[in-house]
Amino acid sequence: MTQTPNNNAQRFDTLLVANRGEIACRVMRTARRMGLRTVAVYSDADANARHVREADEAVRLGPAAARESYLNVEAVVEAARRTGAGAIHPGYGFLSENGPFVEALDAADITFVGPPASAIAAMGDKSAAKARMHRARVPLVPGYHGDDQDDALLKAEADQIGYPVLLKASAGGGGKGMRIVESGAGFQAALDGCRRESRAAFSDDRMLIEKYLTQPRHVEVQVFCDSHGNGVYLFERDCSVQRRHQKVLEEAPAPGMSEALRREMGEAAVRAAKEIGYVGAGTVEFLLDADGSFYFMEMNTRLQVEHPVTEMITGQDLVEWQLRVAMGEALPLAQDELTITGHSFEARLYAEDPEQDFLPATGTLNRFALDLTGAGLDPERVRLDSGVESGDTVSMHYDPMLAKLIVHGDDRDQALATLGRALAALDVQGVVTNRAFLQRLATHPAFKAVDLDTRFIERNEATLF
Ligand code: ADP
Repeated sequence: MTQTPNNNAQRFDTLLVANRGEIACRVMRTARRMGLRTVAVYSDADANARHVREADEAVRLGPAAARESYLNVEAVVEAARRTGAGAIHPGYGFLSENGPFVEALDAADITFVGPPASAIAAMGDKSAAKARMHRARVPLVPGYHGDDQDDALLKAEADQIGYPVLLKASAGGGGKGMRIVESGAGFQAALDGCRRESRAAFSDDRMLIEKYLTQPRHVEVQVFCDSHGNGVYLFERDCSVQRRHQKVLEEAPAPGMSEALRREMGEAAVRAAKEIGYVGAGTVEFLLDADGSFYFMEMNTRLQVEHPVTEMITGQDLVEWQLRVAMGEALPLAQDELTITGHSFEARLYAEDPEQDFLPATGTLNRFALDLTGAGLDPERVRLDSGVESGDTVSMHYDPMLAKLIVHGDDRDQALATLGRALAALDVQGVVTNRAFLQRLATHPAFKAVDLDTRFIERNEATLF
C-alpha cells in the first residue's frame, strides 16, 4: 500500500468553508457542534445568502461568476489567511477536486479537508485510473483504456468487446465526450464526434471504450481513510434514478444486496482507495449488472451530495469524520463496529421546471418551509438540508439545487412512505421546483417494486410527466 501521509494534518480552531448553498450550511453545522469557528466566503450574488448569515465571519471573494469567486484559488487562500483559518472544507463541486488548489493550501500551510493532491490526480484521468484499479484487482467494465489511440486499433477493440459500446473521453466528466455506439458501422463517426467534443471541453482527445451495459444500476460505496493507514467502507448507496446522468433520488442501503456482495464491493472500494494513498471521505462508483457483476466506474475524491443517506443508516456524521481525519486523528470506528440500521432516501429539490424540459427557475422564495409536526412527521426521521430560507432569492448563477430532503425508516417501504409525506408537506412558493416530479417518483409503483436501473426515468416517462 502506498500511504501518503497527510503531512500538514494539524489541529485547527477555525474552518473556512469554500462553498455555498446547502453544503456550506451543512458543513458549518457540524463544525459549530465541534466548537470550531466558521468562516464563509461569498460572491456578490450571495452577499446575503444563508451560508453567510450562519457563519461566524464572512469574506467576499469577488463577482458572481464562479470563476472570479468560488473558483478563485488566490482569493480563497487569501480569505483563509486573513481570518486565521487553519483548514478549508471545499464541499462538493467548485474547488473540491482541484489538485493545484490543494497544492496551494499545502504551500500556505493550511489544512485541506480532503485527500492529498496526488490522490485527486490519480483519479482525475479515467484511463490512468482504470489502469491503477486493474492493478488493485478492482473489477473493470470489459473494455480498452490503452495509450495507443490509432483509429483502426480502437475500432478493432470495439469489435472485440462487442456492441453496443460506450466511447468515453479519458479526461471526461459531466457526461461530456461520451457516446453509445450501436454497431461497427457507426463507430468512426462517433469516434470523430467524441474526439471533437473532448478536445473542445478538455483540450485532450484520448478515448477509452467500454462495453455498454444496457440495464445497470448505479451503486456506489462510501469509503473513509485516515492518515494512519486505516480504511473502512460505510456501505453503499443506490443512485440509479438519474436524469441525463444527473442523480435525482438516492437511497441506502441498495435494495436487494446480499451480505456477500456488499462485503465484496466494500472491500474492492477500500482497495481502490488504498491503492492511491487516499485520505478522507471518498466514493467509489460502480455499475451493478443484473447478474450481480459489478464494475468500477470512477472514484469521487470528495464528500458527495448524497452522503446524508449514509449518515442516516449508520448514525455517523461524515463531516465530523472528515474534520477529525484532517486533524490527524484515526478513524472513529473500525469496520466491524459499523452497522446498517433501517433505510434512507434523499430527494434533491431543484429550482427547475419539469414542464419545460427542466429549465432552471429563478425568483424570490416567498415561502420555504417544512412543518413536520403539522404533517405528523418524526423529526428524528426527516432531515431537510437546505441552503435557503423564506425570503431568499434564487439566482441563475449557480447549481439550481435548493435543498435535499432526507428520510429514514425501519425498512424501505416505511422510508418511502415517509418521503412521500415529507415531500407533500414541503411548502415552496415563489420559485418553480421539481417537487411534484419528486412526489411522482417517490410514489411510483415501479420504484416501490425496486424495478431499478439507470434508465428508470427514461423508461417510465409516460407515467412520470
Ligand atoms: P462522467 O464522469 O462524465 O459523469 P461516468 O463515467 O461517471 O461519466 O458515467 C456517468 C453515467 O453514465 C453513469 O452513472 C451511468 O449511468 C452511465 N454509464 C457509464 N458507463 C457506462 C457503461 N459502461 N454502460 C452503461 N452505462 C454507463
